[in-house]
Amino acid sequence: MRLQEKVALVTGGGRGIGAATARRLAQEGAAVAIADIDQEVADAAAAGIRQDGGRAIGVGCDVSRKDQVEAMVARTVSEFSRLDILVTCAGLIRDNLAHKMSEEDWDLVIDTHLKGSFLCAQAAQAVMVKQRSGRIVLISSTSALGNRGQANYSAAKMGIQGLARTLALELGRYEITVNVVAPGFIATRMTEATAERMGITFEQMRDGFAATNPIARVGEPEDVAGAIAFFASDDASYVTGQTLYVRGAP
Ligand code: NAP
Repeated sequence: MRLQEKVALVTGGGRGIGAATARRLAQEGAAVAIADIDQEVADAAAAGIRQDGGRAIGVGCDVSRKDQVEAMVARTVSEFSRLDILVTCAGLIRDNLAHKMSEEDWDLVIDTHLKGSFLCAQAAQAVMVKQRSGRIVLISSTSALGNRGQANYSAAKMGIQGLARTLALELGRYEITVNVVAPGFIATRMTEATAERMGITFEQMRDGFAATNPIARVGEPEDVAGAIAFFASDDASYVTGQTLYVRGAP
């Protein structure tokens, strides 16, 4: 129960890594605002946490829209009175080889991941600076290091690492830490969609990855949630500007 009395906001919290993170933060005692582009998906995830005895609300928000991001943070603060932890899990992919990638797919991925992370961090820090404390955890990916067919996603995910290092420098004086978790292959709808695009079953994709992974399995959303919970807790109070790869491999 490291997060008792804390208030967390998790974007993309309706599904996958975000949903597992919201559950984990709630299990550790935090009240959680779950934001997702689909209000119903966010509400369902929040209802699940309440059923388990936690405190949670659902919020509809497109993280690429500044007005919606500001409203999401305002709703969280009006419901729970403060904001201690921001985790930015909202995301999507639009893969294609660079020479075939449309401008729309470039813009959508950059706007969702990079601009979205910036807008959420900007709105959250305004509350956290006044409180003189906060934890911001941004989500990158091993694809930041380069991945065929993901020029848009890779650029956004490496950009997020630079964004976090810069925010860490600017916000440290207010006792706000900013760190990054960079997952490898995690079993979610996002990787299911990748298997479909590649024309293989999800099981084939899982098995192929596991065969070359040192821990011999793919990651689960809970594997990532554990790393995020560490950065969100007081255990990480002197750790900032770092990127932790959660990929079952060096
Ligand atoms: P997921 O299961 O698809 O969950 C992402 C959630 O974000 C979905 O509910 C999605 O809604 C929502 N979303 C999409 N665009 C949004 C927007 N503009 N505003 C608010 N919410 C939005 O994916 P995931 O695998 O958990 O991914 C979570 C994060 O981890 C992402 O940043 C992803 O890039 C990162 N990541 C994932 C993996 C992996 O292997 N799964 C690896 C590395 C990094 P819709 O479903 O309606 O689109």
